[in-house]
Amino acid sequence: MEDGKFSAIGNDLGEADETIDLNGRLVLPPYVDSHVHLDYYFIGQNDKVKNQSGTLFEAIDLWNSYKEGTTKEEMKDRIRDAVNEVASYGTQYIRAQTDCTDPNLAGIKAAIEVRDELKDNITIQVVAFPQNGMYSYNKDGKSGRDLVEEALKLGADCVGGIPHNEWSPEDGNKSIKEIVRLAKKYDKLIDVHCDETDDVQARFVEVLNAEIMHQNYGKQTTASHTCSFGSADDAYAFRMMGLFRQSKMNFVSCPTENLFLQGRQDTYPKRRGLTRVKEFVDKGINVAFGQDSIVDLWYPAGSGNLMNILDNGLHATQLMREEDFPRNFDLVTYNGAELMRLDDVYGLDEGKPANFIVLDAPTVFEAQRRRAECLASVRNGEYLFNKKPREYETELDVDRKTK
Ligand SMILES: [Zn+2]
Repeated sequence: MEDGKFSAIGNDLGEADETIDLNGRLVLPPYVDSHVHLDYYFIGQNDKVKNQSGTLFEAIDLWNSYKEGTTKEEMKDRIRDAVNEVASYGTQYIRAQTDCTDPNLAGIKAAIEVRDELKDNITIQVVAFPQNGMYSYNKDGKSGRDLVEEALKLGADCVGGIPHNEWSPEDGNKSIKEIVRLAKKYDKLIDVHCDETDDVQARFVEVLNAEIMHQNYGKQTTASHTCSFGSADDAYAFRMMGLFRQSKMNFVSCPTENLFLQGRQDTYPKRRGLTRVKEFVDKGINVAFGQDSIVDLWYPAGSGNLMNILDNGLHATQLMREEDFPRNFDLVTYNGAELMRLDDVYGLDEGKPANFIVLDAPTVFEAQRRRAECLASVRNGEYLFNKKPREYETELDVDRKTK
């Protein structure tokens, strides 16, 4: 590494001012959390509101009353705390879904300011996310749609949406047209909370996919969650997956969140509520995993540790065939970077910023099997953190299998 960039990659690179021996540990590009709500961090532990039913829709209603009167400074503190925790596990790239259904846009302004303050250490993309809907929200003469546009003018990076939370399919469809129109107008990326429900009638993913095909905007677009696609029948799903391949639209699945939130109205058998991640992987449709929530009204746990998300996701989606293990880390690294359009800066390549993490395992398989800890996170050639490997008082030899 030189001047914060990778200058050469390989063996026997000659003399250097400083050499660090990682003892055969695994080096990966940094984790990418492609879907997380930093502005909701730890809202789940407060005395004002409690989610009794545990459902997504009660959480949305409660948030609506909670957020009244929140200030930008309060939001900035919360977002900074969230980034600190998320980064402490090795994440350096975050797509922050940020609620803009607030006439003061406190969360959006806060997220944009924190994004700019931290940009040397952490890359954050801010999504203008209308949590309470584009057309089902209206306050002080401003609709959710108006507030999305205002957030984009302030500097948000992506257009968000939530068609399944609008009042009717017509409104949901209308919101999708508007999302794509706004993205093209302001030259922004798209990331829609799409079909986050077990309702098999929720098929906004089809509408979104068609619209971006018409507008040639697939690679810039992400459909997050698409839970109902996991409940859809095969005839529909297989036709749609052919169209997703054509559009090149990206997907994000949030395994812990949706395992917890979906299937709530089922007795048994109880659905997992996840989209068809394994089929996407097999068909070359880009899909990444995200944390989504950390102790908020939607989900009472979480830490931003993407190793935990990966582990849960691999179990829930059965990605454990022999061919899966070598590429599973892509779900929390390269695939997220692709949908965030980080192609020029992301990856272990000569000339790119020297950003990487070190996991406490010798191979990708061992790292997954043992849920290996991230020991170091390096940004532009400098440590964001550097931890000592775990020590044992007794003589345990955890590497015995791979020797
Ligand atoms: Zn979300």
